Amino acid sequence: MVYFDILTIFPELLTSPLNESIIRRAREKEQIQISITNIRDFALDKHSMTDDRPFGGGEGMVMKPEPLTAALASVKNESQKERVILLSPQGRQYNQRVAEELSEFDHLILVCGRYEGVDERFRAASIDDEISIGDFILTGGELAAMVIIDSVTRLLPDVLGCADSADRDTFSRQLLKHPQYTRPRDFAGEEIPEVLLSGDHKRIEQYRFLESVRRTIKRRPDLLAKERFTETEKKLLKKHRLWQEVQTLQQR
Ligand code: SAM
Repeated sequence: MVYFDILTIFPELLTSPLNESIIRRAREKEQIQISITNIRDFALDKHSMTDDRPFGGGEGMVMKPEPLTAALASVKNESQKERVILLSPQGRQYNQRVAEELSEFDHLILVCGRYEGVDERFRAASIDDEISIGDFILTGGELAAMVIIDSVTRLLPDVLGCADSADRDTFSRQLLKHPQYTRPRDFAGEEIPEVLLSGDHKRIEQYRFLESVRRTIKRRPDLLAKERFTETEKKLLKKHRLWQEVQTLQQR
């Protein structure tokens, strides 16, 4: 079970996406819990101000440290394996390895910035980790928090219907997943690969593995540099004249 706490000044932004599909079911089955805290409730003045102009001048507004600090104190629980994460374009880059790392925590507190970001003193005193979901600028951290909640939740035991489907996803290894087909067998004159109808599980596994490697070579050769293959896989790659290409990419 992972407990997610989200600190935001726009709680309504999050409610619908966190109440649908797999995330809703995981909440109902108590595989995860999600609480949303409105930072505005911790503002000190009568206008509930959570941001102010930057010292030194310049554009935009900066989120004030006091409401952020008080909102964070209201959700912290030191007894748990806990991490306080600031969503920030300046953070470390999010990927499947980071999702796996976060899925080991009991309590993830996701702090969503807005405007020009948060006061540096709050960041320095209270944040354990800063995460960016990519080299682009969002208007706020809420979408990034949802990306983290969604990707971490599907890694938790028994959240996905089929026990091993997360293990076989793209990025579970440094490989893209093989192409997939469903009914009808003939679509607009395009037949599915014959091997998938053979009922021969070993041949199907080998075909899928080879397609996965071919697709990775073509689309994401950078991934292969970090992938390690078993002796059986190496033999299969050699037999299908893919091993040399893989090795060349791994030596780059
Ligand atoms: N002025 C900041 C800068 O140049 O680094 C950007 C602030 S951005 C407009 C407002 C908030 O959106 C940030 O504080 C952060 O919480 C969130 N945010 C924006 N881009 C993000 C990204 N790529 N990953 C995670 N959070 C992001």
